[in-house]
Amino acid sequence: MNLELSEEQTAVRQLARDFVEREIVPNAVAWDRAEEVDRAIVKKLGEVGFLGLTVDEEYGGSGGDHLAYCLVTEELGRGDSSVRGIVSVSLGLVAKTLAAWGSEEQKRRWLPGLTSGESVGCFGLTEPGTGSDAGNLATRAVRDGGDYVINGTKMFITNGTWADVVLLFARSTDAPGHKGVSAFLVPTDMPGLTRRTIHGKLGLRGQATAEIVLEDVRVPASALLGEEGKGFSIAMSALAKGRMSVAAGCVGIAQAALDAAVRYAGEREQFGKSIAQHQLIQELISDIAVDVDAARLLTWRVADLIDRGRPFAVESSKAKLFASEAAVRAANNALQVFGGYGYIDEYPAGKLLRDARVMTLYEGTSQIQKLVIGRALTGVSAF
Ligand code: FAD
Repeated sequence: MNLELSEEQTAVRQLARDFVEREIVPNAVAWDRAEEVDRAIVKKLGEVGFLGLTVDEEYGGSGGDHLAYCLVTEELGRGDSSVRGIVSVSLGLVAKTLAAWGSEEQKRRWLPGLTSGESVGCFGLTEPGTGSDAGNLATRAVRDGGDYVINGTKMFITNGTWADVVLLFARSTDAPGHKGVSAFLVPTDMPGLTRRTIHGKLGLRGQATAEIVLEDVRVPASALLGEEGKGFSIAMSALAKGRMSVAAGCVGIAQAALDAAVRYAGEREQFGKSIAQHQLIQELISDIAVDVDAARLLTWRVADLIDRGRPFAVESSKAKLFASEAAVRAANNALQVFGGYGYIDEYPAGKLLRDARVMTLYEGTSQIQKLVIGRALTGVSAF
């Protein structure tokens, strides 16, 4: 297995590093404190091509393979997970899903805006009463002539208040279980659609997370993405790739934790020598380093499988499970290296830990990833 990056991949990673150092790192703490990322960053991400990775140039995309996408995602995660999440959702869950399942008309209508950063997408699956059991949706889309009329509430929607379009999942037929679920592209300026910002998050504080309420929202039948009743498969295919993106973001968090811990350990002195000279500090740092490498290799394997057209969903769950738990461990170990200074936000470890924590929860909790992996190994569904 050749783990060396191609020239193009190396160049894209450098581009992302420079972008993150210039546009994100100097602002990340202020955005976290203000609970709002400067929205101008979306346009900048679009201009540099990061919102169009893997999408065909014909639709405004910037091409590239999934490994390049992971490299950029890792760098964004190293700089600020709030920004990384904006890309993972608007490009990873919405634009890429649209590119895979959309009609020609839908792709021409939405993709150029999403890939340029002119518009933002959000992914509306979770509901107040429906989280892990995602096929069991209460939101309903009822056919009325040439339209669908949608009623329901979506919860914890990343980019929710910023988005111009929601990739929305709703029950549209009486078919049992997830077979009755369909996917819709719903513009957020439709009458009857309202949004409320969810404040007080532990991490990802700069991100616009929202509750979205739909009351008699009327969309034409052309808003249906893919066939009626295929919505759950569409959501699961989006999340299978999305989990790789989350994993790559976690590698970025763990790498940032490693860089910060090594730097601080060399500077801080206790007992007459740098704390780097204490063996137990080296243990903390080496534990982080092993987590970084293992998470990165699992993530790159998923990208490689996708790029070679091979099955990847279970490997994506493994990468997401390991990388998210590793990011929490790594940030926590880094915080320990910083001692009391790790507990205040003038130093990076605390934010890394807060931002890492949600990675074990969304796009399928760690328990759900284990059930996906267990089902593949045993042939038995234990959901
Ligand atoms: P629940 O499903 O109620 O789970 C509670 C606990 O029970 C968890 O520990 C879970 O692992 C466990 N559990 C559940 N079922 C089982 C089982 N069968 N076996 C063992 N344990 C089980 N959703 C979107 O649709 N779009 C978004 O953009 C989005 N962004 C988010 C951003 C943030 C910051 C957050 C916090 C959430 C976001 N979510 C989003 C929602 C997220 O995907 C859900 O929170 C997640 O899927 C878990 O659902 P839940 O919170 O309802 O927890």
